[in-house]
Amino acid sequence: MERESVSLIYSTERIEPDIDSIVDKLLLLRSRRDRILWIVGRGLVSSKALSSLSNMDTSWIDECRTSVLMSIYEKTRREIDKNNNMKLLQRLYMHGFVSRIIYLDIDGVLSEVIDPDTVIEVYGAITRFKCRTCGWQTSIKYVGKVGCTCRKCGDTLRPDIYMNSLPKKIVNEIVFEVTTADIVLVVFLTDDLTTFELLLIALAAYLSHVVLIGEDTPKYLCEILRCSTASFRELAEAVSNSIGDV
Ligand SMILES: [Zn+2]
Repeated sequence: MERESVSLIYSTERIEPDIDSIVDKLLLLRSRRDRILWIVGRGLVSSKALSSLSNMDTSWIDECRTSVLMSIYEKTRREIDKNNNMKLLQRLYMHGFVSRIIYLDIDGVLSEVIDPDTVIEVYGAITRFKCRTCGWQTSIKYVGKVGCTCRKCGDTLRPDIYMNSLPKKIVNEIVFEVTTADIVLVVFLTDDLTTFELLLIALAAYLSHVVLIGEDTPKYLCEILRCSTASFRELAEAVSNSIGDV
């Protein structure tokens, strides 16, 4: 299919949305079942798990400080039901406007509300724990109740996250999704983007996909990518007006 270069970026100062054409394109892609990829940043929920844990001494991963992870997990769970962004995203997913999501935070929240096979958690998720000796896996709820000792071999369970080096499998999956998507929507970015994330977004923009960046988008990105602007809410409302029930 011929790819069209349309990009949308939100900023608080100017809103020049070409929402109608984006919505038309989304509707078309959805009916053809083409690939609509979302890159969801750390601004989706307020806990910003990765940012808050990055500031800590990294020994917390090995020491299995479950109380820290549990408090982030519980805070995120409490927020989900009230979070309008999450609700909008969930509804767009249910109506076929989301083929795959690349998620840039580690709270595990998206794979709890959307089919986990749809979500690529770039840095893993604090909701899953794994034994590095025997590979046994369990959930944060189990660890919160029973503790960090592996039931199979007695070694220490650790959160299934990758702070510094991403597994090759994940990198391959991400590159495949970005380079084969028919449309890429980038939302909820925060200003602590890593080099890897910046390059990923630049790649998506270079490949002439649609890029939508939500509130709190770093301003310099708008300048680098030279995109017009719009907000996530506007997009969701426009889709809703077009098909009536999102
Ligand atoms: Zn084990």
